Amino acid sequence: MDLAMAMPDCIRLEVGEPNFPTAPHIIDAAHRAALDGQTRYTDNSGINGLREAIAEHRGLCAGRTVLADQVVVTTGAMGALFSALIALVDPGDEVIVFDPGWPNYRMQLQLIGAKPVVVATTEATGHIPTVEQLEAVATPRTKVVMVNSPSNPTGAVIDRGRMAGLVEFVRSVDAYMVSDEVYEEMVFDESYVSAAVHDTDGRVVSIHSFSKTYAMTGWRVGYAVASPEVAPFIRKCQEPTIGCVNAPAQYAALAALTGSQELVEGMRCAYRDRRDTVLPLLEAAGVPAFKPGGAFYLWVDISGSGRTDMEFATDLIQNQKVAVVPGTAFGSGNTGRVRISLATDPGELNEGVRRLIDEVRS
Ligand code: PLP
Repeated sequence: MDLAMAMPDCIRLEVGEPNFPTAPHIIDAAHRAALDGQTRYTDNSGINGLREAIAEHRGLCAGRTVLADQVVVTTGAMGALFSALIALVDPGDEVIVFDPGWPNYRMQLQLIGAKPVVVATTEATGHIPTVEQLEAVATPRTKVVMVNSPSNPTGAVIDRGRMAGLVEFVRSVDAYMVSDEVYEEMVFDESYVSAAVHDTDGRVVSIHSFSKTYAMTGWRVGYAVASPEVAPFIRKCQEPTIGCVNAPAQYAALAALTGSQELVEGMRCAYRDRRDTVLPLLEAAGVPAFKPGGAFYLWVDISGSGRTDMEFATDLIQNQKVAVVPGTAFGSGNTGRVRISLATDPGELNEGVRRLIDEVRS
């Protein structure tokens, strides 16, 4: 990123946020809220109107009643993940995470003093962890399994049957699942199934965000949904850390959730079109990439270049002025991979991919 920042004409394929603006009606709602005096602390778990709207929405998704008291509005999904992990995990507890996987999980566990237990997923299982893999690493100290579907960085989407199996495994070892679903609206080929659908006894804490769904990364609003027993602990963890989420941003989130969903559909279609344009280019050039079922990333195999991910990413910036994320940022097993983002202007994306192919072949 330092190299990319110093190069104004660099094509930025490493960025992990939508290249769309926040919709005007969402911005207006924040503006109006601030003018109306909604500028004070709110309840630790968020304003009632937003929690009620979220509860209704989640209830529809999970096919069961969700109460507003089960919802905690947080500083983005990052805040939801951190507060949920602090609430559930003690120092020394074990938390199962996946490689490749989003690095912030491991960073948060390090801050908490918990032990990440890393399970490597492979293309053979579509980058979806299997119950057998989990059984092989579970111990009496296993407290949480972190699941992320659609996944950053692979875009793998866990289907209904396999998600049911993972929740059942978590139940069998008396642990919790923290299910990071921030890309739930960016699913291309099938309908999305939340882990909450399979939760019969309050073991799933689901994590959601307005960042990717509504192009609101900078507003910092997300939320956790947990059982009536667990949610109050998550709420309490917000008092010493953030107090509450920025009040006008909560009104913006309410407008996002209750307003037109056209932009969400538009972004989903745009990412799918970009995937379907770029994947064939890579395939035709003999540069393999994992076909993502969701999110907005491509996990590209650059091992044909004969270089490691770090060497390749550095050469790509210096020789071709294209920035990507080295695979090992997502776990040590990924020296032959880089991640590129589909949330990029299509012209820049196609040109960046063309240059990436040139660099693999050089
Ligand atoms: N979870 C995953 C898998 C992500 O990729 C990201 C952001 O890149 C987040 C959570 C954080 O989202 P937020 O902006 O809501 O904190």
